[in-house]
Parts: sequence; structure tokens; C-alpha cells
Amino acid sequence: MRLRNVTGSREVIAESRFVVREETLKDCPGTWGQIFGNDRPIYVEIGMGKGQFIHTMAKEHPEINYVGVEKYSTVLLRAVQKMELEELPNLKFIRMDAEEIAEVFGPGEVAKIYLNFSDPWPKDRHAKRRLPSREFLARYDKILAKDGRIEFKTDNRPLFDFAVEELEPAGWKAEVLTYDLHADPVLMEGNVCTEYEEKFSAMGNPICKYVICRSN
Ligand code: SAH
Repeated sequence: MRLRNVTGSREVIAESRFVVREETLKDCPGTWGQIFGNDRPIYVEIGMGKGQFIHTMAKEHPEINYVGVEKYSTVLLRAVQKMELEELPNLKFIRMDAEEIAEVFGPGEVAKIYLNFSDPWPKDRHAKRRLPSREFLARYDKILAKDGRIEFKTDNRPLFDFAVEELEPAGWKAEVLTYDLHADPVLMEGNVCTEYEEKFSAMGNPICKYVICRSN
């Protein structure tokens, strides 16, 4: 998701108290409890876009600390603006490329990772850039708690099929797997729609979802 150049978005992000400062990111591993001021579980959304999903989740689950990761400051700005309208103590943002995620969280520090409507990178030679690829699963493996889970939603069937094929070779297994989330009343309980999920399901696209854990 790229927005037109929003004047001053970098400056706003750099000064926002909702965004962890870029120059302090290297000191973050192992200190997230201090950052939030409590030792509640940490859930991370990677590629959160404008933050609709994570903001709603944080509001509904004050017992969890949420961290939203987004690459583009123009997009992150929208999430920051949402926080200015409705501030939540259990939500923080990071502007960075998720390739460096294992340098920002310590081993086992994260209890859950959400990937929602990740960029498809359809060319084979870009497969490594896909957020549910084995390369990224190896990064998540470093920071995710032993019994941690990764949840992935998308309407992009080729990307989802790829993500499912990556699981076994990367040492993960699906606990939940559906090709039509919105048709499953049990899985829909407590489902919080992302911005893309609303848009694409309104167009009639079925939403695929998995929840995965390590296979041993
Ligand atoms: N999760 C939101 C947005 C989906 S669009 C929703 O479901 O509505 C995908 C988002 O992921 C974009 O905002 C894009 O900038 C971000 N993104 C893609 N690759 C990323 C990466 N490597 N690191 C961080 N963010 C990334």
C-alpha cells in the first residue's frame, strides 16, 4: 500500500510518541516489557498498513500489547493519526522493513505474529520477499515464543498456496486452514476485519486464512 507523498510524514513519524524511534530500535530486543511498562504478551502485525486491524484489536484486548510494523511512513502516518484520535496505551508502531524483525525483538519475546494481506510479489525471483516465505518464517522463528502462533489472511490464492507449501520445509504446520473464512461461523467468532479484508470480501473474493505453529 503506497500513498501519494504526504508532506512531512517522515517528520511526524520521527516525533510521534506512538512510534518507537528508529535510532533506538537496536536497543529494543528484550526490553519490550519496559517499553509498555508491563509484562503482558506481545502480538505483532507485520505490514499493518493504515492500522485498522491492529487498532481495533488493541482496543478489544487491553490485556495484550500490540506492535504494528509498516515499511512506509506515508502509510504509517494514517495509523498514527488514528491513535491521535483514539489513544491506546497497549499499541506501538515501528517503521521498518520486516526483513530486520529479528533485530528488534529478542528470542521468544513475541507471542503472536499477524500477516494480513501481504504483498504478493508474484514474480518467482521475488519469492523471498513474500512475508510468509520460508526466509521470513526463519526470522519469525527467532523471535516467536515456543508455543507462539502466526496467523495469515489473504484473498490472494496463489500467495496463500505458496504460503501453505512453505510450511513443511520450514518446520511449521497448520492448526487452522480455510479457503473461505467468512463462510465459517466458528472461525469468524471474534474475527476483526482488516482494511483490505473489508474491501476484497465486499468484491466477493473469498478470504483464506491459516494459523500455524512449529511442527516440533
Ligand atoms: N494489513 C493491512 C495492509 C495490507 S497491504 C490490511 O490488511 O489492510 C500490505 C502492507 O504491508 C503495505 O502497507 C506495505 O507497505 C506493508 N509491507 C509490505 N512489505 C513489508 C515489509 N517487508 N516490511 C514492512 N511492511 C511491509
